[in-house]
Amino acid sequence: EVTPERAEPVPAEKPSAVTISNRERVIFPDSGETKGDLADYYAAIAPLMLPFAADRPISLVRCPQGRGKKCFFQKHDSGSFGAAMKHVPIAEKDGSIEDYLYLDSADGLAACVQMGTIEFHGWGSRAEDVERPDRMIFDLDPDEGLDFEAVKTAAKHIHDRLADIGLASFAMLSGGKGVHVIAPLSPGHTWDQHKDFARRFAEALSMAEPERFVATMSKAKRVGKIFIDWLRNQRGATAVLPYSARAREGAPVAVPIAWGELAAQEHAHPFSISDAERLLARSKGKGLAGWGFAEQHLPDF
Ligand code: ATP
Ligand code: MN
Ligand code: MN
Repeated sequence: EVTPERAEPVPAEKPSAVTISNRERVIFPDSGETKGDLADYYAAIAPLMLPFAADRPISLVRCPQGRGKKCFFQKHDSGSFGAAMKHVPIAEKDGSIEDYLYLDSADGLAACVQMGTIEFHGWGSRAEDVERPDRMIFDLDPDEGLDFEAVKTAAKHIHDRLADIGLASFAMLSGGKGVHVIAPLSPGHTWDQHKDFARRFAEALSMAEPERFVATMSKAKRVGKIFIDWLRNQRGATAVLPYSARAREGAPVAVPIAWGELAAQEHAHPFSISDAERLLARSKGKGLAGWGFAEQHLPDF
């Protein structure tokens, strides 16, 4: 196992330069949280979130009228995000160049909230070298009938198989139904190598345990199984970022979780945007020291 270094919290910033309008607008109708609540959550959680969210291309889930109304994915600046948002030019499949969004500060998070953002999703590579991935994610998507217990066991199983081939990995509760297993990687290999590795790894798991795992998207083949969504590992794909809020009932958030803690975890999404203080306190515990950090390369597989 690699000895991970501790994630250095980003120091608290000077007062935000971003003004949040309509703070009283209800964004989560079921539980009542407002745009102001969401802005306060991101301001508080920024020191924990920025080590994972900063300096990589992001897609936003924007729901300007709240989560019950129309939401959409956005990856390009519409021109209205302001100076807190940065841009990185990325070649599209057709060869054209498009500016993608990234951020590097709490003000960036705030600028996105001001624009109606609820969720933050990140590429698997950094803005400084978008063609070299720096993390592999296996997104475990349980079929309808499966309980969280099955997802937990599956995540641990994947952790163990990755450990077998020398890769440290970390678990994140997606804030939805599943768990993401994340292996940080030092950049070096290409997207083609990255995707190929992820596909072969997922296929090997499903071939070894076809009753439990499936590695193809087909809904029909997923009945009663866990889909190992390896497609998060292709160029341009995103995954929800640690500590992002979700545009789902109860305003849940995606949270890192220690392997030992996951085993005892009964609910798929135990934290919401009302829990910033608890999340900050929890992050200082021993279990989460070094979460998400490891210096390691994609092995031969
Ligand atoms: P859950 O645990 O409930 O599955 P999730 O975040 O893993 O939550 P998925 O539907 O499995 O949700 O999607 C995985 C990731 O794929 C998302 O986090 C998101 O980054 C990306 N994604 C999903 N749907 C879209 C979409 N329509 N457009 C762009 N990216 C998407
Ligand atoms: Mn998922
Ligand atoms: Mn998925």
